[in-house]
Amino acid sequence: MAGFKTLDDIGDVTGKKVLVRVDLNVPMSDGAVTDDTRIRAAMPTIRELSDKGAIVLLLAHFGRPKGAKNPTQSLSLVIDAVIDVLGHSVMFIPDCIGEGAKAGVAVLAPGDVAVMENTRFHPGEEKNDPAFADALAEVGDLYVNDAFSAAHRAHGSTEGIAHRLPAYAGRAMEAELKALDAALGNPAHPVAAVVGGAKVSTKIDVLRNLVGRVDHLIIGGGMANTFLAARGVDVGKSLCEHDLVETANAIFDSADKAGCTIHLPYDVVVAKQFAPNPPTRTVNVHEVAADEMILDVGPAAIEALGDVLKTCRTLVWNGPLGAFETPPFDTATVALARTAAALTREGSLTSVAGGGDTVAALNHAGVADDFTFVSTAGGAFLEWMEGKPLPGVDALRV
Ligand code: ADP
Ligand code: MG
Repeated sequence: MAGFKTLDDIGDVTGKKVLVRVDLNVPMSDGAVTDDTRIRAAMPTIRELSDKGAIVLLLAHFGRPKGAKNPTQSLSLVIDAVIDVLGHSVMFIPDCIGEGAKAGVAVLAPGDVAVMENTRFHPGEEKNDPAFADALAEVGDLYVNDAFSAAHRAHGSTEGIAHRLPAYAGRAMEAELKALDAALGNPAHPVAAVVGGAKVSTKIDVLRNLVGRVDHLIIGGGMANTFLAARGVDVGKSLCEHDLVETANAIFDSADKAGCTIHLPYDVVVAKQFAPNPPTRTVNVHEVAADEMILDVGPAAIEALGDVLKTCRTLVWNGPLGAFETPPFDTATVALARTAAALTREGSLTSVAGGGDTVAALNHAGVADDFTFVSTAGGAFLEWMEGKPLPGVDALRV
């Protein structure tokens, strides 16, 4: 892959100690892992290195122990889940640096896999302390980063160590970088972005970055109300950040200059109460009553937005178009997601989506597998959409 070394470039790893930064920050309840998506994502890299005879040493953080040991945030709690997914034994090493780490590593054989204790038990991790990164690097021969989701942070195990050992992108990192490059780095035009969600305030930088990069910016969700208000629409009781109307106007202006078309809904679904299946009306945006809330994009706009996607070759999507958790306000999100999925299956669209609620919405629509790529990276995905440098990715560049 251009600009990065991957496992294709790593050479003979037999008997070599490979420190692999993975994401094991999994949700737990009653001592059990409730979602092992992140563990499964790391498997191709772990299996490949283990099969090639490397000694695979997994580095990860877990929770926010803030630089101190805390048994409730020990990675020993996730070891059974890692064993379940990998299908064979995995050792636990009670520290990631120093004598504790080295003694644990010394007994391992080629092909073995071990989880090392929470990197955040050391204050040097989050401070990216050079002495901590040195200590990490002493434990291994090579470094592989397979945790895109942690790459927006310049920490010892994501950034510092990459300057101290030969550094490679793992398979999950490689897939993520390729997808993000195809979506915004070097996309086929025309490019459409869908940005939705509750508030403009959480996505100002995303919108600012996108207007300079995409041909069509589709704004939905609660944040569309602020843009509608900026255009003089009375949005009634809708979620609306009236103090950001100036920001919305500035985004309209830069879109104009950049040749980016902003699409706002012209019909919407409104209700007087925000509850499952309340009485609703579908109205033109100029017909919202003072006691009504906009909770979804309307059917005419959905049809028009689908037509926009049909003219595009690339789609990047963050944020649902409506309050999709509450029926029937999932309608627009589900419909547009299905259109995007169908265009992707036909081969006319490259579609990349990310964001916690966005992933949930695509799963709810039953189309997550039909998108070209769905990122579960959360904060790192958003910072990438904001056009910010990701220290953990930059440290891997050759
Ligand atoms: P993501 O996690 O994918 O980045 P966000 O957290 O920005 O997405 O936004 C998701 C939230 O936006 C959802 O909880 C959804 O209910 C809310 N939302 C979408 N449209 C509206 C709306 N019209 N009014 C209120 N909330 C909305
Ligand atoms: Mg969210």
